[in-house]
Amino acid sequence: MKDLSVIVAAWESRQWDALIAEYLPAGVLTDAFWSGRPCPCPICGGKDRFTYTRNRGRGDWVCRKCNDGSPSGGDGLELVRRYTNMSYSELKRRLNGASSPTPLQLPGRPASLRKPLDSEAKRLRIESQWASASPLSAGDHAMRYLAARIPGLRAPMPQALRLSVQDYWYEKRVVGQYPTIVAQFTLPDGRMATVHRTTLDPSKPEKATIITQDGEVLPAKRNDVTALPLAGGAVRLMAPRNGELAIAEGLETAYAAYMQFGVPAWYCLNRVLLSQFVVPDGLGIESVHIFADFDAIDPTTGKSPGMADALSLQKRLRQAGFKVVLHRPKVRGTDFCDEWRTVYQLRQMSRHVVPA
Ligand SMILES: [Zn+2]
Repeated sequence: MKDLSVIVAAWESRQWDALIAEYLPAGVLTDAFWSGRPCPCPICGGKDRFTYTRNRGRGDWVCRKCNDGSPSGGDGLELVRRYTNMSYSELKRRLNGASSPTPLQLPGRPASLRKPLDSEAKRLRIESQWASASPLSAGDHAMRYLAARIPGLRAPMPQALRLSVQDYWYEKRVVGQYPTIVAQFTLPDGRMATVHRTTLDPSKPEKATIITQDGEVLPAKRNDVTALPLAGGAVRLMAPRNGELAIAEGLETAYAAYMQFGVPAWYCLNRVLLSQFVVPDGLGIESVHIFADFDAIDPTTGKSPGMADALSLQKRLRQAGFKVVLHRPKVRGTDFCDEWRTVYQLRQMSRHVVPA
């Protein structure tokens, strides 16, 4: 009879696999991934920089580039956290508050080994969310939210944003019903990879504050399931004009950049996806304006994360032959939404100055 510790170790290792299979898209979970051969990194892409080692039986992995171009690695929890951009605490909550990420359940089939949604089911799920949401219209919750965040906003009606009233689910319970901005995240080939959702307050023009009965604060901004790997894609807010496109991390910064500089803008959801952005063919785009978030310095890397990723995008797009302009907010620790609010105020004030 096998030593019990060997059986337990094998069991634990499978639970880590199941955790990863639940949160990462099927597209990256190839045979090469599971068999521990070099493969593209779910977080930062590439061809063969990533290896799922299972070194310590905790879903362990290494990537040659994951730390701003330097090697990095961790356990399965770290992989899921970095892929989904969830905080540890949020991820832990999702794992039912277990102190160890995947509690052992012997004997029998562990709950976490339930079959993840397959890619077709995920595609249908995001398409039905998109189809059931309505185009924006003047004065609706989405427009009032945007107007409050980006003062003076005047922009073409966004085809990539819709509004719906959605149940907010948390741990298999509906926490509440909220107006929700649904954004279509599109890959360079035009396929929809996910929908990103911003949950709004039902009465005030701001993001919802969502609190569970236990007092946990839940995120107002999140992706739905990812039907396809997200690398390369963006939310296409406006049509490029005169071969020019602006790219930013977030919805609000994209609109703010458009207001300040007049270049039609898209957004990538976060800085990692911004660094991976791919300019689609066929839209005549020749020059790209990158609107970086000027994040505070990360003491472990000595870099501003938002700037570092914007610089790596700039480098890659220049190598691909695009004209690239990298814009940085004037004040460290701010983004272009902050900057536009200041610029707008100054413009309003100067307008009211009576000439002598
Ligand atoms: Zn990586």
